[in-house]
Formats: sequence, structure tokens, C-alpha cells
Amino acid sequence: MKVEKVMVVGAGQMGSGIAQVCAQAGYKVLLNDLKPEFVERGLGIINKNLSRNVDKGRITEEKKQEILNNLTVSTNLQDAGDVDLIIEAAVENMDIKAKIFVQLDEIAPANAILASNTSSLPITEIAAVTKRPEKVIGMHFMNPVPVMNLVEIIRGLGTADEVYQVIEDMTKTLSKVPVEVNDFPGFVSNRILLPMINEAIYTLYEGVATKEAIDEVMKLGMNHPMGPLTLADFIGLDTCLYIMETLHEGFGDDKYRPCPLLRKYVKAGWLGKKTGRGFYVYE
Ligand code: NAD
Repeated sequence: MKVEKVMVVGAGQMGSGIAQVCAQAGYKVLLNDLKPEFVERGLGIINKNLSRNVDKGRITEEKKQEILNNLTVSTNLQDAGDVDLIIEAAVENMDIKAKIFVQLDEIAPANAILASNTSSLPITEIAAVTKRPEKVIGMHFMNPVPVMNLVEIIRGLGTADEVYQVIEDMTKTLSKVPVEVNDFPGFVSNRILLPMINEAIYTLYEGVATKEAIDEVMKLGMNHPMGPLTLADFIGLDTCLYIMETLHEGFGDDKYRPCPLLRKYVKAGWLGKKTGRGFYVYE
């Protein structure tokens, strides 16, 4: 099983980053989203990142063009007919992911691996909608993808050892560090990170301190590179809410109940940096 051609489904902040690092590593990449303007927005992010790397002397203009030449855009899942690996990075919603995986299972070659970049949804449940659960696996990249070294590799109940090995090796070719985890809600990263962020939102909701003070305490006191409310804005408040709901439902434990303030912001469309407003306002 050799990975040469990769399709990334979802060209948002994660999908565009995943497509970029795959193209940088020399893979042929199809970047897919629902509408041409969504894919263009994703390509725009990649272009901007690569231009910054050229300006800083990290890569040459020729290398940038070479990377861009590895990328092709797609707005039709039928394009998955000749790929070796699909990395799904659409929104964090089981119904949407299940629909995508049912289609990909029908379209993709029989030996293709179907991976999800889900932050918290069960890989085993996603795998169960396909006829190839042994070829379904979690590849959880961190945000921002081009910068962060970790990829959590999640084994579903039926993931084959050979498939795990292919994905672990492929992750290393992206200059990332794979870490193996089992399939439980939130895996390791978000089982620990998101309850902390949710608690920070409760701390704001209960008027314990201002948002700036909460972030400052965690930055200066705990040496975190950014405060939890700033981090929530970077992750996307909709994604944070989906993850908390997955933890709450998956463990059936009220300690994971999402803060009402988080729900309120999401209902208002204040989704964080990507919409220009979350806990903070972005130009
Ligand atoms: P995003 O909102 O920036 O992007 C999601 C993209 O998926 C959008 O462009 C949307 O149009 C597209 N999409 C929706 N339905 C689709 C479909 N049926 N087919 C193709 N494209 C579709 O979200 P994001 O932050 O990039 O998150 C994407 C995934 O990555 C989620 O599962 C999320 O949990 C996971 N993730 C997010 C982070 C983070 O920090 N934001 C980190 C790790 C993993």
C-alpha cells in the first residue's frame, strides 16, 4: 500500500493546512469543498502561508510554485476515484461526516485509506458506515497545521495494523510526529484541552474575571503560549461546542456539560477568529 495521491475533503482552516503540508511533502493533492469559492478561500490561505515562507527565506519562489503545482481543486467527491488516501476535514458533525464517508466508500478505490481529522468523534462509528472499517483511521492534526508537529493517530476498533503502519509512516514524511491513541471521545488531546477551555468560559460566565485577566493568568501563571479564550477563538467556537457535546454524550458525565455562554456565542454566529468575532474582535 503506497500513498501517492491524497484528497483532502473540507478546505477550511484545517483542510487547507493539511493540503499544504501534503503538497510540500511532494504528494499530489486534491483539495475538495462544497463550492468553488470555499476551495479558493482554502487555496488563498495556502498561497499566503507559502508567500510568507518565501519572504522569510525559508523556501524559494520556485519551491512555492512546485508546491502549488501539486495542488488541484475539486468540488465533487467523484474525483476520489483514483486517490490512495482521503483525509476528511469537514465540519465536526457526525451526520455530515457519515454522509461523506458513505459516498467516499463507494467512490474511492477498494484499497484506498479513509482518514478523518475529527477532533473528537468516534472513528469506530465513522468506520461503521463504510464497508471497509479496517481501512478507516483518525489523523488528528493540530492547528495551525503547517506549524504544529503532532498528529494523533487514532485506531478504530477495526483498523488494520497494516493501515495504521502506512499512516504512521506517511505522517513522518510530512515531518510530523505521530502518536498512537485509542478511540475514546476526545482522544487524548481534546479530552484534556477542551474541559480546560470550557472551564475558562465558565470562569468568564460567572464573572470571576475579565477575558483578558483569565487569559493573562493562564499565560503568565501556567506558561501557556496563549490564554484559553484566545485559543478557543483560534480553534473556532462551533468546533469547541461540538467537541464538548461529544465528550458530554460519549462519557454521559455532566462534568463535560458545555458552558451556556459558549452556546450563546455559537448561536450568535460569533465563532472566533474565522468569523471576525468570538471572545475577542479580529480585524
Ligand atoms: P472550518 O469551519 O474552518 O472548515 C470546514 C470546511 O468543511 C468548510 O470549508 C466547509 O465548507 C467544509 N465542508 C462542510 N461540509 C462539507 C462536505 N460535505 N464536503 C466537503 N466540504 C465540506 O473547520 P476546521 O476548523 O477546518 O475543522 C475541520 C475539522 O477539523 C473538524 O472535524 C474539526 O473538529 C477538526 N479539527 C479542528 C481543529 C481546530 O483547531 N479548528 C483542530 C484539529 C481538528
